[in-house]
Amino acid sequence: MSNYKINTKCVQSGYTPGNGEPRQIPIIQSTTFKYATSEDMGKLFDLEASGYFYTRLQNPTNDMVAAKICDMEGGTAAMLTSSGQAANFYAIFNIANCGDHVVASSTIYGGTYNLFHVTMRKMGIDFTFVEPDCSDEELEAAFRPNTKAVFGETIANPALTVLDIERFAKAAHAHGVPLVVDNTFATPVNCRPFEWGCDIVTHSTTKYMDGHGAGVGGCIVDSGNFDWMAHADKFPGLCTPDDSYHGITYATKFGNAGAFITKCTAQLMRDFGSIQSPQNAFLLNLGLESLHVRMPRHCENALAVAKYLKDHPKISFVTYPGLEGDKYHALAQKYMPNGTCGVVSFGFKGGRAAAETFMKHLKLAAIETHVADARTCCLHPASATHRQMNDQELVAAGITPDLVRLSCGIEDAEDLIADIEQALAQV
Ligand SMILES: *Cc1c(COP(=O)(O)O)cnc(C)c1O
Repeated sequence: MSNYKINTKCVQSGYTPGNGEPRQIPIIQSTTFKYATSEDMGKLFDLEASGYFYTRLQNPTNDMVAAKICDMEGGTAAMLTSSGQAANFYAIFNIANCGDHVVASSTIYGGTYNLFHVTMRKMGIDFTFVEPDCSDEELEAAFRPNTKAVFGETIANPALTVLDIERFAKAAHAHGVPLVVDNTFATPVNCRPFEWGCDIVTHSTTKYMDGHGAGVGGCIVDSGNFDWMAHADKFPGLCTPDDSYHGITYATKFGNAGAFITKCTAQLMRDFGSIQSPQNAFLLNLGLESLHVRMPRHCENALAVAKYLKDHPKISFVTYPGLEGDKYHALAQKYMPNGTCGVVSFGFKGGRAAAETFMKHLKLAAIETHVADARTCCLHPASATHRQMNDQELVAAGITPDLVRLSCGIEDAEDLIADIEQALAQV
């Protein structure tokens, strides 16, 4: 990890050109890499030497961008994946196998909930979901002897709850397992979970990191802090020889700093191949170069919108962790004193019909399932992503029929509020 401030890391980390080399990171658009002898290549296959042989596993462009995100988070190793979904799947599946168990926050991204609750259950991995603000006793009771990880989101999408990272890390460590945090909404500009005891961070880089709605992608970063060998009985995949690599034991050969990402690349990326394209990695890096400039504007606009809506006679509630009086404001102040994210959710006194009318009249805010884009976008979950649910099911999922999620972009706050104002006038 470099000693530069986060603003400098966003711009400069991950790639330093030598004399006469390109200033911008090169896009290595090649599936394969050439070697002089079979022995040279053999060393790569045995993980005896580091280098590239096939882009299904690793690509130099991807690694430069992963190195930047690694430095931004303050980690020791990182890898890019084709999506945020792939990042969360790999991060958990790298340490939990059939017969294992994971404790997860209940307020996580719907796609991640489905991945855990439906698809990974089919693979024989069980999950216990706990409320992010559950009591210490409830959290404690969720653990089992076969628990291998704890998972949560810094700021949950779309619930906007804030994870008490320190408390969840302490509970995980008391049971000899790592805390995995999806840091998509906060980004390392606003929160670096490793500083609070988290062990592994994941990202959907599709969101603020890309920031321009250009490319789907994900990232996994290891803090290097978790001592796998101290809990060797729980993590045989890292702490006993891997037959598919001539008996290498990742935790001893690569240490705490490198074992997790090396295994994730050498086994999971080899076998599943959810690699990010080098083109998308290049676009992601362009996004990262301005992340530290964009995040404060997203937060500033969201706070202005939240304050405006809070006192509006047609609005029944506003949820935004950056807003004073919000249930998660104190945790947000602790973990994200410089800002949270650009997403605000709110409801209408006029119920579902009012929300639908409001959406119809927005001009600047586009209706999209996407969030965390430079352009403001808006979603009414009850008539889009959650339209198969009836009103009762919606409430159980924490989404009232009148809820609207607004992802504030980096336009002028006055224009955003004027757009909201004219749409509200139609309600
Ligand atoms: C969008 C999102 C994901 C999934 O990422 P994709 O890039 O769409 O696969 C995971 N976690 C969070 C918090 C997200 O917002």
